[in-house]
This record gives sequence, C-alpha cells and structure tokens, in this order.
Amino acid sequence: MSDAPVPGAALDFDTPAAPATACAFCASPIIDQYFTVNGQVTCTRCVGPVRAHGATGAGLAGVARAIGVGSAAGLVGAAVWWAIRRFASLEIGLIAIGIGHFVGLGVRHGSGGRGGRGFQVLAVALTYFWITANYVPDIVQAVMARDGVDAVGEVSGGGAPATAAPVSARETVLAVAFVIGIAVAAPFLEGAGNIIGLLIISFGLWQAWKLNAATPIVIEGPFRLQAASPPAAALPPPLPPVPGA
Ligand SMILES: [Zn+2]
Repeated sequence: MSDAPVPGAALDFDTPAAPATACAFCASPIIDQYFTVNGQVTCTRCVGPVRAHGATGAGLAGVARAIGVGSAAGLVGAAVWWAIRRFASLEIGLIAIGIGHFVGLGVRHGSGGRGGRGFQVLAVALTYFWITANYVPDIVQAVMARDGVDAVGEVSGGGAPATAAPVSARETVLAVAFVIGIAVAAPFLEGAGNIIGLLIISFGLWQAWKLNAATPIVIEGPFRLQAASPPAAALPPPLPPVPGA
C-alpha cells in the first residue's frame, strides 16, 4: 500500500470521500498527508522538490501557463491602450505601467506565484512585447496605405492590366515578422526624442519585474486530512512513514 497519490487515483471511487483538496502544484487530490507552501496545499510528493530547489522549478507547464496568462493580460492591456489612443485621441503612455502591472500579475498567477529571476525576465519580455504590440495597427495601416498608393501608381502608369499575385504563405509570414520587428523597435526609432516614452516603458517593465520577485518559501506541515467518514474497519491505519523529502 503506497501512500503517495498517483495521478490515476482521482478515479478510484473506493477511497473515502475527501474534502475537495488538491495539490496546488500537481493538482492530484490530497489523500492523507499534506504540507503547505506559502499557504498553498502541497502533496507529499511535490514538497520534496520545492524544499530542495526552492519554488523556481515550475516546469514546462508552469512556464507555459505563465506565458499564456501573461500574454492574455498583455493583449487586453495593449487593446485598451490602443482603443484609448484611437477613439479618445489621447496618448496615455502611463498605460504602459498598467500593462506591466497586468502582465506581471498574469505571469505571477500563471507560474503559481513562484517568482524568481526566470519569471522576472519572462514578465519583462512579455510586457515589452505587449507594449509595443500597441503600435501594430498603426504600422499595418501605414504599410497598407503605402502599398495602396503604389498600386494606384501602377494601374495609372502601366499599360498592361496589373494581375494581382496571390499572397503566398511565406510572404505573409515575412510581412508579419516585419511588422512585429518594426513594432518592437518602435520605441527606439525616435532616438532621444522619445526619452519620456522610454522612461514610461521602463517603469512598466519595472512593475513586471517587481511583481515576480522570488518570494521566500515557507513550508509548513505535515498536516493530516481529517477523514470525513472514518472507515468501518476496526483497525486504525498505521501512521505511514513520510516519504524521504
Ligand atoms: Zn503534488
């Protein structure tokens, strides 16, 4: 009899009904013993790595979640900023700080609150990307306007009817990469003229960085789940040894 919860154990209907408690790291249900890491319920299997390596070992899933939630937050922030510029005709660079805050929170949430240098770098990169994504609609508009002028010039000047070549997938990828590249470089293209903008962006990046600082890890436990319905068997189960942490 192994005390360690296995992933498939969630479907074992013979186990006594436990409170709806799952490990915050691997999501497997807590069967008997658990710890808390900074207040989050942690199973006996996951507490060992956390204790050994600190909370930075988020794994690929944690990094993917951090990227996903951080990007979702950044997308919302960039869209709000763009809409304000577009429809209210206001250039509120301070929203860059808001984007940094949202992305920072998103990465922090996605990573399970781990923090640490890797997630700080990730949060800063995502913040910068989503701040500059705010310029993409303008760049696309400018490129399309230029292409439109060219097309008109061709039609009016050339004798042969212009046959519109279908845009290949490769051209599309190149165009998207071009637009993103321009957007990412945009804050620096104005050089010293955009010193205020760069300053505001760096405040936004600082927000994202700060929010993902490594948190000190507090491990408490082991605790025992109170059995909701004790088994009818007369023999109380022996206290299982804590697996080597
Ligand atoms: Zn776990």
